[in-house]
Amino acid sequence: MSLAIVHSRAQVGVEAPAVTVEAHLANGLPALTLVGLPETAVRESKDRVRSAILTSGFDFPARRITLNLAPADLPKDGGRFDLAIALGILAASEQLPTAALDTLECLGELALSGSLRPVRGVLPAALAARAAGRTLVVPRANAEEASLASGLTVLAIDHLLELAAHLNGQTPLAPYQAQGLLRQTQPYPDLADVQGQAAAKRALLVAAAGSHNLLLSGPPGTGKTLLASRLPGLLPPLDEGEALEVAAIHSVAGCAPLAAWPQRPFRQPHHSASGPALVGGGSRPRPGEITLAHQGVLFLDELPEFDRKVLEVLREPLESGEIVIARANDKVRFPARFQLVAAMNPCPCGYLGDPAGRCRCTPEQIQRYRARLSGPLLDRIDLHIGVAREATALGAPHLDGPDTAGAAAQVAAARNRQLVRQGCPNAFLDLPGLHQHCALDGEDRQWLERACERLGLSLRAAHRILKVARTLADLEATPDIARTHLAEALQYRASSA
Ligand SMILES: [Zn+2]
Repeated sequence: MSLAIVHSRAQVGVEAPAVTVEAHLANGLPALTLVGLPETAVRESKDRVRSAILTSGFDFPARRITLNLAPADLPKDGGRFDLAIALGILAASEQLPTAALDTLECLGELALSGSLRPVRGVLPAALAARAAGRTLVVPRANAEEASLASGLTVLAIDHLLELAAHLNGQTPLAPYQAQGLLRQTQPYPDLADVQGQAAAKRALLVAAAGSHNLLLSGPPGTGKTLLASRLPGLLPPLDEGEALEVAAIHSVAGCAPLAAWPQRPFRQPHHSASGPALVGGGSRPRPGEITLAHQGVLFLDELPEFDRKVLEVLREPLESGEIVIARANDKVRFPARFQLVAAMNPCPCGYLGDPAGRCRCTPEQIQRYRARLSGPLLDRIDLHIGVAREATALGAPHLDGPDTAGAAAQVAAARNRQLVRQGCPNAFLDLPGLHQHCALDGEDRQWLERACERLGLSLRAAHRILKVARTLADLEATPDIARTHLAEALQYRASSA
């Protein structure tokens, strides 16, 4: 045998496309050629692989070695193919049997000593290997992550020699047993710990129940961040598929550990965050904050302070639930189905409307501050709520609102009604769905039309009001939208108009 084929996986976005490493040995002057347009990092792996093979006590074949990583058009950076390349050379030179190679997929970077270093993005590769029905060989440090793909056989190794002994039949490896190390959930912060703010808590409940975006407006120190951080705990738990999707994103981003898996993410990027940091990018595209918030909450505090161009980019994922990052010659898609909670001060200094009268902002300054947010972005935020300073004394008892467990139960019931009725949360209803499930009688429709006209609201805003009213009816378990639901939904728009 002078040809050997070893399976591995590349990483593109949150996908792990198959890569085959073909190793061919021919007579001629000793040389090693890598084809398949690999990037610089793969060229470096030639040296690592040669050293690892020699220090492990094998011969490095003194022949013409050709290595082909196929398909050619995938990015192949990083040392993730080292193990597959070493295995290919050893099998092609008959130092290892080839019989089992087709049942394996290999990932791992080799040190010069032959020991293995962990690589990034193992979970997407594990899910793909499971779908392909193969066993996955990974560095031990990656084994726990790979084992999240339940049903997949994982072989964990520290050194090239362990895999060699396994393939030789000398010391067969036992499948890795998951330790459950990554399933360590932290309790979500509790809604009951936020003092007062009954109206804002109500808005938070509605936002969770219909997956509506939320804007909190109020002076500094009124607990906007505290309120926003309670939203993930109100949302229904992730199912297995969603949880794996979230973990795969964090795996690709190199977040270690895969923070609080399998919980809903809460991301809070600073307003100075760059465009690529927020939406993703780079020469080898990496997920941004909006993707790290997938299936969870993206909290943008001090919304008007964000770069306006960056905020405009959010419109696409807010509609489609994904972001497409274009590069010179291809595109990478990242999922970005997040729920947006934004917060802002009412004016540049933050104290507009404060009873102590501390605000010195001119009307022009206030106007300019608010104009930093575009209408189309604000239109995509269904609930606008003012958060006022609470008059209650510090430390006063605040057993006046729901706790997270109680609110989450209400949310779950309301969400379930939506899933049964239309298969998605109310915020995602399309136009036909809206007409079918948010129908109003003639009088109520006229009432809403007149109200929207009076407030100068767009048709898009009117549709959003209907969806929020539908959520309010679902929270009450009533089949039809009533005038009281419309009035409350309208009030969430009017407060900032
Ligand atoms: Zn001010």
